[in-house]
Amino acid sequence: MDYDLQLRNVYKTYDNGTPAVIDFNIDVEKGEFIAFLGPSGCGKSTTLRMISGFETVTKGDLLIRGNRVNDQLPEKRPTSMIFQNYALFPHMNVRQNVRFGLEVKGTPKVEADAKVDGILEKLDLLGIADLATTRLSGGQRQRIALARSLVVEPDILLLDEPLGALDANLRKSIQNELKLLQHDLGITFVFVTHAQSEALALSDRIVVMNAGRVEQISPPRELYTRPSSNFVARFIGSNTIIPGTVQRDKDDVVTLDTAFGLLSGSNRAGHSASAGDKMSIVLPAEAVDLVPSDVDAAKIRADFGSNTIHCTIARLQIVGHIMQMVVQLENGEMLDVEGHVDKYRDRLKAGGTAFLAWRSAAATVIDS
Ligand code: ADP
Repeated sequence: MDYDLQLRNVYKTYDNGTPAVIDFNIDVEKGEFIAFLGPSGCGKSTTLRMISGFETVTKGDLLIRGNRVNDQLPEKRPTSMIFQNYALFPHMNVRQNVRFGLEVKGTPKVEADAKVDGILEKLDLLGIADLATTRLSGGQRQRIALARSLVVEPDILLLDEPLGALDANLRKSIQNELKLLQHDLGITFVFVTHAQSEALALSDRIVVMNAGRVEQISPPRELYTRPSSNFVARFIGSNTIIPGTVQRDKDDVVTLDTAFGLLSGSNRAGHSASAGDKMSIVLPAEAVDLVPSDVDAAKIRADFGSNTIHCTIARLQIVGHIMQMVVQLENGEMLDVEGHVDKYRDRLKAGGTAFLAWRSAAATVIDS
């Protein structure tokens, strides 16, 4: 397999001793859209800057298309970077801004003209090519920054919170544009964001980082349904986490002894699970069912085994075709459950009791 980008045991420790990135490993395929996601200070930008060459690698190997680039200057790397503030040149018009990188590279005039016109057209900027960038809107400035990075035909485009400065509506529409453009060009994009929805909407895979370490690398859906650590389960989506002690591990289904009795989940992350280990069950909000408590106990057991928790429906409301409910568990904990109105209407009512229930395969066990 040929990879566009590989990080092998990459570390970054700043001169003041701050360990910003710890043992980062990833293989990125050509044309993948990768997001680095995590709270402020977890090492996302540092990793991006190491890939671009604006920051040195303390330890480990950084490979682009199979070549080790640790010691290569930024301008020699086949990467382009877009910064959050776009860093456009105020004294240049749109065309001159876009042309800048080609001039630095010494691209012949005729070839440069053709490339600049091509990318201005692709990004719908030809009509404003001769205007000063200072007079343009946030969305236009964003597209100019994109055009300027893409005109040099990088193998990898690096984006540092490029939508951070835009308002919510514009953000959404530029997200769509970005995704279409990336698909169209087939270039690898590596994108830094602290906005979960953005990472989930755009990426093929998301790297979740926490305090310098990679917690999990997964496609968005898997991150949602199969978090592999406590941090990811709390950071992504809407999960209920129930701690317990391993009772048995059979055919990748782990059963825990919990405050709610014996509960099971699948061991997809492949954690070692020996009797007596402290682990937790993660229940994604969309994986649980609410079964009215007057349903025959034998039927509930046949469908869900022992994966049931008695609860009270504290509140419910219907929003379009969705019924949203807040339920209270026996230990007082409240959690949100929702489902299609047709499934729940006439079966559940506020103040009534029910069983929260799930099939073992829909829940995941993680280390506590
Ligand atoms: P993120 O992009 O996830 O917000 P950063 O990569 O910017 O995180 O920072 C990771 C850690 O490295 C933080 O603790 C931050 O304070 C520290 N850091 C970032 N840049 C520098 C620097 N130039 N010198 C020293 N420490 C830095």
